[in-house]
Amino acid sequence: MYSFDYQRPADRAAAAAAMKGDARFLAGGQSLVQAMKLRLSSSERLVDLRAVGDLKGIRVDGGNVVIGAMTTHAEVAASAEVRKAIPALAELAGGIGDPAVRNMGTLGGSIANADPAACYPAAVLGLGATVQTSQRSIPGEQFFTGLYETALSPGELITAVSFPIPQQAAYAKFRQPASRFALVGVFVCKSAAGVRVAVTGAKSSVFRAKALEDALAANFTPEAAKAVKLPSTGINGDMHGSAEYRAAMISVMASRAVAAALAR
Ligand SMILES: Cc1cc2nc3c(=O)[nH]c(=O)nc-3n(C[C@H](O)[C@H](O)[C@H](O)COP(=O)(O)OP(=O)(O)OC[C@H]3O[C@@H](n4cnc5c(N)ncnc54)[C@H](O)[C@@H]3O)c2cc1C
Repeated sequence: MYSFDYQRPADRAAAAAAMKGDARFLAGGQSLVQAMKLRLSSSERLVDLRAVGDLKGIRVDGGNVVIGAMTTHAEVAASAEVRKAIPALAELAGGIGDPAVRNMGTLGGSIANADPAACYPAAVLGLGATVQTSQRSIPGEQFFTGLYETALSPGELITAVSFPIPQQAAYAKFRQPASRFALVGVFVCKSAAGVRVAVTGAKSSVFRAKALEDALAANFTPEAAKAVKLPSTGINGDMHGSAEYRAAMISVMASRAVAAALAR
């Protein structure tokens, strides 16, 4: 690990003031610290957000569940409000990594990191969520811009994510057994606005699968999802699964997600 300066501000203003030069926010450290230990990443300064109290919390606001950026995966998984309003989101959070990761890792850290196999990006895109930052509101559709890339500007702080409450939704993940990230993960959501299907683990960034959305808008059943054959063009292939395998798994996981959504 390269040496760095560490700061632990007590509020948002002090956090913003500390973000000078080559500084980065530190949330749960589950991705950033690992990358720094391996010398894959370095920063002059880490600005620890854990003492900034108003970045945590969960509330239902009209038709949305609003979750603070520093809320951990374990807190989302255990939240009675989330389990009632969007059980798919609580289940997704409860399936991330292991207990240590879930008790340290945060919603804001997960989406800022934009790992191509992470789970939360599928919920942000699948539910049509909005990312609130220190500067603006960013529609989920515009937030993930590529491999580990987002629309965030340097020093821009994610403060919360607002998830619209759907009629029916579920997330199905086919785990990479060693890392527990998604080899393929599919978030399916049905709301008054239509059907959305977001896929993680299969490309350089989370994406919507239009062929599945069209099929499920016409017939919201597991069979309709399974019948969709997606091309393997542009799909990731590696030692864990070929592009053809992952493409086939997208329809399989979508059908499992629809079955789970209908079974509630
Ligand atoms: C063994 C293991 C298994 C895992 N399995 C899964 C899995 O199954 N599914 C899954 O989705 N993830 C998984 N993860 C990743 C985990 O969810 C991390 O918690 C997450 O990716 C990063 O969150 P963090 O709070 O630890 O962020 P950090 O590691 O602290 O930060 C990550 C990045 O986000 C930035 N950042 C943090 N907070 C903010 C903010 N509020 N505003 C702007 N930028 C910010 C940081 O500067 C940094 O660049 C796993 C991790 C490990 C170690």
